[in-house]
Amino acid sequence: MMLEKYSIGIGDRFSHQGKAQLQAVLQAKDHGVPLTPVWNKSHREHTIIGTTPANVRAEADAAVAALGWPGPYFVDADHIGPKTVDLFVQASDFFTLDVADFIGQAAPQAEVREFVEKHRRYVGSLAIPSIDHTFDSPHDRVEAIARKFLLAVKQAGSIYRRLVQLKGKDNFVTEVSMDETDQPQTPVEMFFILAAIADEGIPAQTIAPKFTGRFNKGVDYVGQAAQFEKEFDEDLAVVAFAVEQFGLPANLKLSIHSGSDKFSIYGPIHKALVRRGAGLHLKTAGTTWLEELIGLASAGGEGLAIAKDIYTAAMDRFDELCSPYATVIDIDKTRLPGPAVVAGWTGPEYADALRHEQSSLAYNRHFRQLLHVGYKVAAEMGRRYLDALERFEYAIAPNVTTNIYERHIKPIFIGR
Ligand SMILES: [Zn+2]
Repeated sequence: MMLEKYSIGIGDRFSHQGKAQLQAVLQAKDHGVPLTPVWNKSHREHTIIGTTPANVRAEADAAVAALGWPGPYFVDADHIGPKTVDLFVQASDFFTLDVADFIGQAAPQAEVREFVEKHRRYVGSLAIPSIDHTFDSPHDRVEAIARKFLLAVKQAGSIYRRLVQLKGKDNFVTEVSMDETDQPQTPVEMFFILAAIADEGIPAQTIAPKFTGRFNKGVDYVGQAAQFEKEFDEDLAVVAFAVEQFGLPANLKLSIHSGSDKFSIYGPIHKALVRRGAGLHLKTAGTTWLEELIGLASAGGEGLAIAKDIYTAAMDRFDELCSPYATVIDIDKTRLPGPAVVAGWTGPEYADALRHEQSSLAYNRHFRQLLHVGYKVAAEMGRRYLDALERFEYAIAPNVTTNIYERHIKPIFIGR
């Protein structure tokens, strides 16, 4: 199974927006930009919401049937590890092997030495044909890279081989992710990580490094955009060079996680992709559920009541909801409106505070981030929430489609 050049991960917390999401991908197709939709959901999300991988498969299949989607599509077992892989085998055909937990656990010294020896032609200095400067790669640094990442890559190898056993080779797409770690990986580190991935025989089609800067959930990029631009461009060159040097799949490309809402770097990303003719997988951060809240609030009545109840509960349970996401959110509590204030809001006032329009004075990124991690509250509402999604689909769906197409697909894949 081959992933095409451009693809988009459209995780959907409550498995109700498959059609509205796919509608955005159809719009891209109508504009001459083919994009493969990938429905992704992690074990953590499934656990919090009480869904299973089979629900995601059903959602994807139903959306594809309803809209007559003619192209390929995938169901991604997002961030799986040795303990969770088996749960996803049946429903998924895309597997994101998350080995971040093993980064920094030292591999045996003999394996480290063997790795450095095998790749000694790149030790000292690393020249990548399409980059105008060489990278220093002294022996001790390459050894340190091997010590830091080799065990993690070997772990990915063992999950990959388990999948081959259970699903058969070539029956799924493999991604390797190392984004959920504290240190970003430099282009040089990525080069040697790709060497290790090739050594392990993992036919990775996407690789998700941790990029420089902060990729907080549901809000814009925080960091030096110029530094990001430089490293992203170098990463693209590294991937292309590694494909050629190590015989990795020719369609290997970068995958950006928590990639939704990073408006300030979409321009540079688009330019770099075009300049290098490179592909990209963009995973959104599950923010489709915020479009559900926007739609519910806009609908008024019971929809608005639900949206307000969720905010009140999220304020009450602030620490509990935020702690699992502590490293990927940045909420200033003093900027949050009190629940009594929000209780007095009209539907449009609620929607405008939440909708990610940076030029709007009403937009409040603290409000948005708290609601983003508040999906557990909606999950606990059970039928009340799900029934509202169905009843107010007419108000929700256009928000879901517009958010994905106008704010994401257009600037990244089409260019404005
Ligand atoms: Zn991730």
